[in-house]
This record gives sequence, structure tokens and C-alpha cells, in this order.
Amino acid sequence: MKRDLFKLVAMGLSLLVFNSCGGKGSQNVWESADGFESGAKLKIAATTTMVQDLVKVIGGDDVEIYGVMGEGVDPHSYSSRSSDRQALKSADLVFYNGLHLEETLQKNIELLKTAHRVTSGMEKSELVQPEEKYSAYADPHVWGDPLLWSKTIDVVVDALVAKDAKNGEKYKERGDAYRKELMDLSEWAKGRMREVPAERRILVTSHDAFMYYARAFDFEVKAIDGLAPGDKSGPKKVEELVAFIRERQLKMIFPESAANKKGIEAIAKDAGVAVSDKELYADATGKVGELETVNGETYDLGSYIGMIKHNVNAIVEGLK
Ligand SMILES: [Zn+2]
Repeated sequence: MKRDLFKLVAMGLSLLVFNSCGGKGSQNVWESADGFESGAKLKIAATTTMVQDLVKVIGGDDVEIYGVMGEGVDPHSYSSRSSDRQALKSADLVFYNGLHLEETLQKNIELLKTAHRVTSGMEKSELVQPEEKYSAYADPHVWGDPLLWSKTIDVVVDALVAKDAKNGEKYKERGDAYRKELMDLSEWAKGRMREVPAERRILVTSHDAFMYYARAFDFEVKAIDGLAPGDKSGPKKVEELVAFIRERQLKMIFPESAANKKGIEAIAKDAGVAVSDKELYADATGKVGELETVNGETYDLGSYIGMIKHNVNAIVEGLK
């Protein structure tokens, strides 16, 4: 439902942009022809909200970022708007996740000389290799493990330094500070996860986006759908999942912000288990500037760190 709604909104927006091309005083967010304000800053286009946040942290005020995908967007099925294509073409640097996450965009992005895959510093042995379908690709949801995600920092720092040497020291300093923050985040998450008794550390959610979380924080994951929300399971897998939830006596299962909730609700009904009222951020952060406070700590749901904290807090509170 939500995805369909988003598509409609996105269609409406792109029509708006299309209709207002060349018109004066339009109120849409893309004010210049190439998607960027015409400033002297380095122009960056970034695909997912996690990649945008990464570049924002390291680039700071020295870069201008065009975000291709917004919050609540499923990157597996995203199709670009004309404004995205303009911004990708005219950016000084383009950053993307890769590993087949941006399914429809990746080929075109890889043709650009300005493109940098933020996951390029990860070793194959560090990536989760899925068993079933999509086995030609590693699991792209690498941000689930903050330590693994910290390997994206050098890719961004190096590209920014090479393009904008005069601000090089600033990029390096911000990168180093952020690496430390992600290490702290990882330790914090491990500590919180230990509040859940081992036999209850099981996460059931909409699609297979949490395998890196599971590996980093020591719990088991089961998903209704495969690596992409559109990669639907058959009735047999659904039946097995219902049986699994009953057998393991789970207290709660979790919906995702960018996936249809219907599947998870139907399974919860069949298995007699509660659905969390907190949607997990699987493939996109929340809205930038939207704050959440848990246990006296406030974080921005539109940031990568806020996304991880929200998910870990929701999972721990729901399962412990
Ligand atoms: Zn996904």
C-alpha cells in the first residue's frame, strides 16, 4: 500500500517537475535545471538515504548533495525521475551502494566516470552470500553492520580529497571522527542486544534485509520475502514461517517502513503473534530532522546512526 502510494506521489512529483520545466517561480524542490543550486560547492549526487547521510557527514558544508531516493523508498524497485538523471549527469561526484541494490539505476550509474561505489572497499569474504535466488550477487544490505559500513568512509574521503584537495584535511578529519562514532555505535548495539535472552533473539520481518544485523549482533533472522520486497515467497514458505513462529513462541514480529505491511500482518494473525507498532528502517532511513528519544537519548531518524538506534531499540524493547 505504502509503496504504491509513494509511487503515485513520486509520479505526481515528476509530472510537476515536467510541467514546470522552463516555468518561472515553480515551488518544487529542484530549482535549477541540473538539480543543484548553482553554488561554488562540490556537487554530489547520492542514491540511497544511507549513502546520502554518509556523504553529508564527511562532506559537511563543503558539498551540496542531491539525494536521488527519499525516506521510505524501496531502492530495489526505484525508477529514476528525469531530475535524477540530470543531477547524476551533472554532479562532480556520484556515490551509490552497488551490489545490485539500485537494480534499475546501477547500470547507468556505472557508465559515469564520476561514480564511486561506496561498498568497493569491502572484501568478498566479508559479504553475505545468499543461498537461494539472486545467488549471483552478494547481499547488498551491508549497512546493517556498522563496522562493515565504516569501510565506506575511505571510499568517500578519497574521492572528495581527489576532487577538492583544498578541503582535503577537513574531509579526512570528519571521516576519522565518523569511524570512531560507528565503532561506538556497534558497541552500543551489541550491549543492547544482550538484554534479549539468547533463545528470544529472533527477528521476523518483511524482506531479507537484516542478515548483516544478525551477524553483527548475534541473532537469527527470518523474512517473508527474499532480498527485495518484490521477491515474493510462495505459500509453502509462509506456512513454514507461521510454524516457526509458533514453535519458537515469539512475542513479536516487525514491519518495515518501505515494505507492504499486509504480509507481516497476515502471518501475525495466522501465528497468533503481535506486530510491533514500530516499523523498522530496512532499506532507507527515516525523515531527516524527525527526532526520537529512547531511554533519554535523542537521535535523528533521518541519519544512519539514528536508523540503527531506532531499529535496535525497537527490536530489543519488542523481544526482551
Ligand atoms: Zn532490501
